[in-house]
Amino acid sequence: MRNVIILGSGCAGSTAAIYTARANLKPLVVSGHEPGGQLSLTTLVENFPGFPEGIQGPELVENMKRQAQSFGAEYLDGSVVEAELGQRPFRLKIEDDWTETRTVIVASGASARWLGLQSEKKLIGHGVSSCATCDGFFFRGKKIMVVGGGDSAMEEANFLTRFGEEVTIVHRRDQFRASRIMLERARSNPKIKWLVSTVVEEVRDVEKGYVTGVRLRNVKTGEIWEQAVDGFFLAIGHIPNTAVFKGQIELDAEGFIVSKGGARTSVPGVFQAGDVADRVYRQAITAAGAGSMAAIEAERYLEAEGH
Ligand code: NAP
Repeated sequence: MRNVIILGSGCAGSTAAIYTARANLKPLVVSGHEPGGQLSLTTLVENFPGFPEGIQGPELVENMKRQAQSFGAEYLDGSVVEAELGQRPFRLKIEDDWTETRTVIVASGASARWLGLQSEKKLIGHGVSSCATCDGFFFRGKKIMVVGGGDSAMEEANFLTRFGEEVTIVHRRDQFRASRIMLERARSNPKIKWLVSTVVEEVRDVEKGYVTGVRLRNVKTGEIWEQAVDGFFLAIGHIPNTAVFKGQIELDAEGFIVSKGGARTSVPGVFQAGDVADRVYRQAITAAGAGSMAAIEAERYLEAEGH
């Protein structure tokens, strides 16, 4: 029987692990299908306090893991494939084995949605990014492209005009999902150019190892052309990693966990931290903060139960 099982090994999960391990709760961290979370997909992180020269994303999450392990946290490769949260103790099936636990901290994150192109995948961190706040700074004076037609695309494109010489929004339809106000704000920004009814077929240049341009296709006319860009940002939504909790924890329409105040969820003893419940901030530092909150909640919950 475990005191606490933490799902996810990104900033939120490992911070929860540091706190619960220091509280002597011997947490088990289930690493999940993207060990280290989204930071493991980035390069230089310049906005995490405490690193004036910046730090590589993978190094930052590895440091957090080592810090948690030094206090006794245990990390297990694999994912939770089934959960039974309707009874106490809770039961989680991690790969092939069921484990019982008194509390659960769900820090399984939300994965950025990608277009699914081979070239895109190969250039992640080398000009391809899913986070304007994280990577916009690297494209000062450069040509930037943002894919998407929702609020995130508008917000990211606006933000990126602080850095880029020009920012082109590419959207697969000619109708926008974005709210009127966000769309108008983007439309009134003279640095933003628009390509509608257009899809990206390939990101170049895999051989060079960094982004030099894209091949585009107009879905109405069939026209295909190439355009030079230096930074290629995806803003086509995030998918929260909550499938195993459907019907057990309250989720919103898109699958994000609904907070019941602080780190609490609809199930007492199950807490959430990080992007799995956050569609607004989605930063390493906010996820880390949320991880510490979930750990404190779990500690207090166990204490109240006399453990
Ligand atoms: P979203 O509203 O779901 O929009 C995703 C966009 O990406 C859509 O325009 C969609 O196109 C496009 N897309 C999806 N898959 C694609 C694919 N495979 N290829 C090309 N395009 C694709 O997601 P979001 O913009 O991240 O927003 C999520 C939620 O957060 C929304 O509720 C939004 O209002 C909210 N949000 C609010 C703010 C704010 O108020 N400041 C900022 C950001 C986000 P289609 O339109 O054709 O489906």
